[in-house]
Amino acid sequence: MRTKQDFINALSKMKRNIYYDGQLIDRTDELQSDCINVMGTTYDEAAKPENEELMTATSHLTGEKINRFTHIHQNTVDLHCKQDMTRMLCQKVGGCIQRCMGIDGTNAIYNVSFEADKVKPGETNYHDNFKKWLTRFQKEDMIAACAQTDTKGDRLLRPAEQHDPSAYVRIKERTKDGIVVEGCKLHISEASVSDEVLVIPTRALRPEDKDYAVAFAVPADYDGMKQVVTIHNYRQREHFKRGFTPGLTDSYLLFEDCFVPWERVFLAGENLHGGILALLFALFHRHSYSGCKPAIGDVILGAAALAAEVNNIHKQPHVREKLSELIMTIELGYAAGYTASDLGKPEVYIPGMGFVPFGPGSYIPHSIYCNVGRCLSGEAVWREAEILCDIAGGVVATFPHEKDFTNPATGEALLKYTKRNPKMSAEDQAQFWRYLGDAMCSATGGIANVGNYHGGGSPIMEQIAITTQYDIESRKKLVKYIAGMSGGDREALAKINFINKPIDK
Ligand SMILES: Cc1cc2nc3c(=O)[nH]c(=O)nc-3n(C[C@H](O)[C@H](O)[C@H](O)COP(=O)(O)OP(=O)(O)OC[C@H]3O[C@@H](n4cnc5c(N)ncnc54)[C@H](O)[C@@H]3O)c2cc1C
Repeated sequence: MRTKQDFINALSKMKRNIYYDGQLIDRTDELQSDCINVMGTTYDEAAKPENEELMTATSHLTGEKINRFTHIHQNTVDLHCKQDMTRMLCQKVGGCIQRCMGIDGTNAIYNVSFEADKVKPGETNYHDNFKKWLTRFQKEDMIAACAQTDTKGDRLLRPAEQHDPSAYVRIKERTKDGIVVEGCKLHISEASVSDEVLVIPTRALRPEDKDYAVAFAVPADYDGMKQVVTIHNYRQREHFKRGFTPGLTDSYLLFEDCFVPWERVFLAGENLHGGILALLFALFHRHSYSGCKPAIGDVILGAAALAAEVNNIHKQPHVREKLSELIMTIELGYAAGYTASDLGKPEVYIPGMGFVPFGPGSYIPHSIYCNVGRCLSGEAVWREAEILCDIAGGVVATFPHEKDFTNPATGEALLKYTKRNPKMSAEDQAQFWRYLGDAMCSATGGIANVGNYHGGGSPIMEQIAITTQYDIESRKKLVKYIAGMSGGDREALAKINFINKPIDK
């Protein structure tokens, strides 16, 4: 497995295709170092003996020990470990661990490429292509971004109806050696520090949208793809250093007549499977949220409790009520993911058909629980910020810059006037408000909230998944029976699977 230093060395050798604020930059530019440190944590922690079970796995392709972020889930234990690994790592970096797009993208493509090969038996090699790519990905312990979100143009038009045909990434040309693609993927997290980029469709596709049913992988510094990156760093500190400084990046990926050889193509024209791939990536990604959102909740809860202590209001009943609200969201999100892991199977839910076998046997978390967990946690983002804002007061917004604390003209007075709880040192109180200002009032804090709300799909997408997959009709029958209405047959009710479990579990 790779070390953090191996990862940085590999980044330093990549070609320059990253544009930042009008300039071409190196991947190891100082601007990216906080983000690289977050990603590097996934290597450092995997090397620790105490994390071996959680963070490593045995490759089902080679039998070798691999970093769990490159693993294909083989059973429910793997799903549990992925959720718990995500929570543990997000706690370590105080936010998003940023490597989940790769594990979620690879697991989705692994399953869908297998099924797509059945459409024209013998004519396509998507699954073998993907397994070859995956073997190298696992051996070299690489990082992959997953590029799903298209520009989407007019939201009410389907891909083939758009005024600009490249509003969704599409196959422009097919040759005997590969495909030529064009379009742009938006908001692609950590593509600027990834080895590879996985590209997949973003929505359900009709037969006339078949050129948009495309999945492939390219190196992140590939000719034919430019990255325009936004880098989200906290304000630099000289004197009062943080315990850990996280950084994030998001790229717009521009595909300009980008040639992709067939061995890197995992789907090319199977519209139905394009839609399933979009949904399956979202499903795996919503499962990842059941690890990261509870961890982010852990940090918010700790911050809210500390803010209350600094203000010496921690024993007040309204604070207890708010802390309990945070805990309920954290643990309900975690419990939903835990259940999704526990009920995982090599199956997907198809409306009207129920659970059907899918893929070559790797494990997929349960859809309803992934979606309810992600929707509950995603929508709670602004409420959690509201609770923090309420308990903290206005100080987080206006806390003076660090050099005003080191300047003899103002430092002593500032410490005196920012001290609140007499039982905590003024220095610690100041350091706490600096942290909370970073988290709540910086550009990075705002961006993280938007990401936590929309990442993995806006809440409406989870609501659509939940209501189309949940057996609401059976609940109507239940009430008809209890109310004594016609259509409420007791025997029919006995056959209904009210707890959403796969029947033979
Ligand atoms: C920080 C951050 C990181 C991200 N990282 C990644 C990443 O790594 N990879 C990736 O692929 N994506 C990533 N995303 C993208 C994320 O998945 C999308 O933002 C999300 O799916 C919503 O899509 P959108 O931003 O295009 O919003 P839109 O889809 O434009 O949504 C805006 C509003 O329009 C509504 N709407 C949209 N279409 C319709 C319609 N047809 N009918 C009615 N209403 C409609 C929506 O419900 C919503 O209310 C990231 C986003 C953020 C903010």
